[in-house]
Amino acid sequence: MLTYNEFIELRNKLAKNEISLELAKAQCWNGLEEGKRSWHTKDWKDRRSEIIKDKCEICGSKETLTLQHSFHPKKYSEYTKDLTRAYAKDYIETNPDIDKSELTTHILEKYEYVPTPLCPNCMSRNPNKRLRKSPQYLCTECRHEFDLTVYRSVDELISAFYENEKATEVRDKCFVSKDKWKNKHNISNIRYWLQRERAKNRDAETIEKEAFLLYLNDNIRYLSFEDTITACKKCASYFDLYNMELCPKCNKNYKSIQFPTCIQCLPEDKRKAVIDKIEFGKEMRDMHKRLGID
Ligand SMILES: [Zn+2]
Ligand SMILES: [Zn+2]
Ligand SMILES: [Zn+2]
Repeated sequence: MLTYNEFIELRNKLAKNEISLELAKAQCWNGLEEGKRSWHTKDWKDRRSEIIKDKCEICGSKETLTLQHSFHPKKYSEYTKDLTRAYAKDYIETNPDIDKSELTTHILEKYEYVPTPLCPNCMSRNPNKRLRKSPQYLCTECRHEFDLTVYRSVDELISAFYENEKATEVRDKCFVSKDKWKNKHNISNIRYWLQRERAKNRDAETIEKEAFLLYLNDNIRYLSFEDTITACKKCASYFDLYNMELCPKCNKNYKSIQFPTCIQCLPEDKRKAVIDKIEFGKEMRDMHKRLGID
């Protein structure tokens, strides 16, 4: 694990192209999988002990002090995902169309077609299948009864899509990806993912490098202890578990961060309303317990 200064050095070298992305990653992760490492290096401990105050910045207590971070870096894969999405958006804006035969080839190669059953008379979708009646199907649109549904071919569907992308018949997600994910897509989804893939391939190096620089920057920010406060164990856990902080008025009770003060410090009339509500809740629960409906 790199020290704070080593992180900064690595970031600067990469930004100035003095080191390859591959080597930078290797130096940063040192052969270990991302996320499998801990921050708690000697450097971290030393710098932390200089930053941490001698009392809780919320309540002033000196018991079991911890450094609370309000900012956390994301995983590297999340930076690449966000950037890929942004690059895909740009790519699609400049290359909105895909040649019909190219898209057809892609669909046939990568997807299984699970067609929507149609009424042979009016071509409406999903006719009613009846369990005990013959003929088996009843079309709810035209009331036609029949035994065999019909299907649109992949070519017909793609042609319909190229005529009108928003047509009802092309909205069904009737294509299942042949990979392990088995994603269900409609033609519009398929086109998006194909374009996104192309954007990703075209800008792969830029995306990876930008993502890694963001990752390094956020790690540096985290390790700088910039967005931290010293909190006692009680204040830290109240904040983490219940989203509560010390009441600024009495400095004694904890309050939910959405309220300005604790219940005791509320103006008389409001306090009464809140306490009544809590009492009412307690009574109801007690009554439910007595009646055995709890
Ligand atoms: Zn405290
Ligand atoms: Zn029909
Ligand atoms: Zn208070």
